[in-house]
Amino acid sequence: MSLLVLTHADCRRHTPPEGHPERPERLDAALRGIDEIKSHRQRPAEPAQHSQLLLAHGPNYLNSLENLAAAGNRVSLDSDTHLGPGSLRAASLAAGAACQGVDEVMRDAGQSAFAIVRPPGHHAESARAMGFCFYNSIAIAALHAVETHGLDRVAVCDFDVHHGNGTEAILAGNSKTLFLSSHQSPLYPGTGQPDAPHADNVRNHTLPTGSGSNEFRELWLEHLLPELEQYRPQLILVSAGFDAHWRDPLAQLELKDEDYYWIGDQLKALARKSANGRLVASLEGGYDLKGLKESVLAFGEGIE
Ligand SMILES: [Zn+2]
Repeated sequence: MSLLVLTHADCRRHTPPEGHPERPERLDAALRGIDEIKSHRQRPAEPAQHSQLLLAHGPNYLNSLENLAAAGNRVSLDSDTHLGPGSLRAASLAAGAACQGVDEVMRDAGQSAFAIVRPPGHHAESARAMGFCFYNSIAIAALHAVETHGLDRVAVCDFDVHHGNGTEAILAGNSKTLFLSSHQSPLYPGTGQPDAPHADNVRNHTLPTGSGSNEFRELWLEHLLPELEQYRPQLILVSAGFDAHWRDPLAQLELKDEDYYWIGDQLKALARKSANGRLVASLEGGYDLKGLKESVLAFGEGIE
């Protein structure tokens, strides 16, 4: 049992306008949950290298973000994605932490890594910031695992309540990755319908509004976990969003703390089966501070 946590205080420096749900206090709440796992080890996150960001994003997009940041102004990239002076530093640490997590579990497969970072990343597309996200940390980490460590089967599991449209768009058609997602529908961003045409390496499953523990677990037991097991992943990456929690203000699912222990435990069991236990999670959503703290604790114990 070993859990490595990658985090950095500068992830607080991304400061959206007052009242925005994706606020710096989320980092503290998540870390309060982690602190209750006595056996965990913590290491400072390092920023992503430019070459790592380029695995998932176009050079023009990266340059435009850097130019906006260099000007020092606050810029709204969409109605809820706001770039300020500390935003790119935080986003770069978030993406870098996910890549570090991959490097660490490739070096020592027995452990799990958990990037406790913000802003989240799974809505960011190759050339578009959206939904609180600038750099798609989990897609960058998946492509880093393929490029740097030569893996052929990297699975990305996304149980955030929202569909990871950016991750899907970036990884679609990449034969060395598999993207699996469960998400509430209808809900932002409106993508991820199971019957929509999509690439062979994409598995989308939806939960209707009001679904709780039973519906969530049944969906994973009947569909997502068998699909993941059949893939025989060499590495499992997790977009760990906790906004399907019953307390969360942005969605209408009814998951409890123990459901996050359950999914963590299930994913870690499959990681042990085909991937020597290699599992790396990156914090995505979760906007009620108490719900986030308890969910992070439960999930962290599940993957430990
Ligand atoms: Zn979300």
